[in-house]
This record gives sequence, C-alpha cells and structure tokens, in this order.
Amino acid sequence: MLLTTLREEVLEANLELVRRGLVLYTFGNVSGIDRGEGLVAIKPSGVPYDELTPAQIVISDLSGKIVDGNLRPSSDLPTHLELYKHFASIGGVAHTHSEFATAWAQAETPIPCYGTTHADSFHGAIPVTDRLSSSEIAGDYELETGTAICRKFSNIDPMSIPGVLVAGHAPFCWGPTAAEAAHNAVILEYVAKMASHTLSINAESRPLTRELHDKHFLRKHGRNAYYGQVKTQ
Ligand SMILES: [Zn+2]
Repeated sequence: MLLTTLREEVLEANLELVRRGLVLYTFGNVSGIDRGEGLVAIKPSGVPYDELTPAQIVISDLSGKIVDGNLRPSSDLPTHLELYKHFASIGGVAHTHSEFATAWAQAETPIPCYGTTHADSFHGAIPVTDRLSSSEIAGDYELETGTAICRKFSNIDPMSIPGVLVAGHAPFCWGPTAAEAAHNAVILEYVAKMASHTLSINAESRPLTRELHDKHFLRKHGRNAYYGQVKTQ
C-alpha cells in the first residue's frame, strides 16, 4: 500500500472534522500531499466517515490519475489538485460545508476580522471568490472552482490567509499538513460563527485595528514569532 503514513494522517484529519461537528453525513473532504512523490491522498467519495479505513484513502497524482485505490476519489479532487499546483507551500486541503462559514459563503460576504481569535490564524478578512460563469459551471466545474480560488489569491499569500469562501458554495482551507488544514477549517468555522454573533449584537461593529490584527498574527506566524513554546530540534 502506497504512502501508509500519509493515508493515516489524511484519515485522521477527516475524522477530526467529524469530531468537531463540521460535517453532515458525507459532506466534506480532506487531502494531503507528498511533495517528494508528487502524490495526493484524499478521502473516497461518499463513504461514511465511521467506515473509513486507511486502505480506502485514494492516491492520485497531480494530473488526477489514480495510482492506488479501488474507490472513486472525492469529486472535489480537481479543486484540491489545483490548490496544490498553485500554492507551493501547502501540504493539506480541507473542504467542509460547516454551518456558519457556509452561510457567509452563501451571503458572498468576506468575513471581517472582528477579534484576535480571527487575527491569530488569518492575516486579513476571509475572502470570497467570484461566482463561476455559466461556461465554468458547465465545463470542468471542480477544476474551475480551484481556479477561482487561485485567482482570488493572486495577490494574497495563501499561508497568511489559509482559507477562502467559495461564492454560493462553502469554505476551503489549507495548511502545511492535512491536520493543519483541518485545524484551520475548525478555526474558520468558529471565526465565522463569532462574526455572525458580533454583528447580531451590534450591526455597526468595527473590524480590529490593523495594529492589533498584525500584532496577533505576527506574534504567532511572523519571522519573530514568540507565541507558544520554543521548538527544539
Ligand atoms: Zn462542497
């Protein structure tokens, strides 16, 4: 069996979305990539999460050719592949239809940064893609979804804002690993929920100041990050 460890990581990241309440039935999918091999491991399509095993995780190359596995991959595979091809630093992608993030995607409204919880993980508002055109929907729809995301990030570092709302659809998140992509999906859902609550309390709520936003993101992710424990290696 190819890529045993990556299969297990991807399975675990998929299950994390279920544990955190981000997934209804079989909605959602997480993948991970082995950059050395150029191979992607992704959840199979339509298999219930409580029946998933590492052997069922499907292995694809970057062109979408299945190189190991008997099941069909998630139908969103072409979106994942497009992100891996354009975002060289990412190692995992997570897609959910989690309630609050999906509501913002449906409202086609970027999520402003109202607090430090958002700023700790996302260095800016969570962007929304443009709508897909009729020909994009009729054509290679899942690939075009990936293209729309990459277009939105043409001037954004994907590692500084590791997630996006696809207009009328739902969020996609990513990270250095499958586990971190799932983690970012969980944080995005929490941020979307709190932004909704914030606006329901005060519709005139103001986004965080740039200074506080920068402070929180950069103390965790900047070159001189100092949040957490010193890594020893
Ligand atoms: Zn979807």
